[in-house]
Amino acid sequence: MGILKGMAVTLRNFAGSYFEKDRLITVQYPEERSPLPENYRNFPFLIFDGNDPQAGLRCVACQICEKECPPQCIYITKSKDKKPDYIGKPQFYPAIFDIDISVCMSCQICVEVCPFEAIKMDKDFELSKRERFDNLLFRKEQLSKSNDYYHKIHPVEAAAVDKNLADAAAVAEAKKKAAAEAAAKAAAAKAAAAAAPTPVASPESTSS
Ligand code: SF4
Ligand code: SF4
Repeated sequence: MGILKGMAVTLRNFAGSYFEKDRLITVQYPEERSPLPENYRNFPFLIFDGNDPQAGLRCVACQICEKECPPQCIYITKSKDKKPDYIGKPQFYPAIFDIDISVCMSCQICVEVCPFEAIKMDKDFELSKRERFDNLLFRKEQLSKSNDYYHKIHPVEAAAVDKNLADAAAVAEAKKKAAAEAAAKAAAAKAAAAAAPTPVASPESTSS
């Protein structure tokens, strides 16, 4: 009975595939490609803002992802100098940032631990290479992709990340403004105190 039931399901799907598009599950890859879902992930990549992959790289080389990566396939060397981040704060950047994708297990832990929204999961899966070693060690230049690309592959997630960053930048800007106003007030109070006439002591008060 089980075999007959199974055959009936197969027959229904076979006949139905001529009339219902949803029953067609074979895709003529690579000419045809099924759209990948929003949360599909493959290997990590680094995000940069603006047009310059080096100047706009969000990564500050804090090395948290390198420490937390379970198979230890991230290799980072911190820069000696600093460059401004997205809120203008001087930060280190990675002089070297490599990921060995022959070892990476696509766990996404690096993404979850990054405090700077600098590393995200890519959807590119056509990465097979003839050489096993050097060609599978992805360098910073190869890993760097724009925020526009991130929006294209993960639109919902990228919009939420942009909002978080904009909120953080607004809070930092408000703090900076409040600090500048407090400093200006303190300077004005100091200047007013310096300009005030020094009280002269009366003869009575000096004799007593
Ligand atoms: S996805 Fe996982 S294994 Fe791959 S680099 Fe990130 S933390 Fe390491
Ligand atoms: S990707 Fe994120 S966690 Fe990793 S070094 Fe850069 S800023 Fe730090």
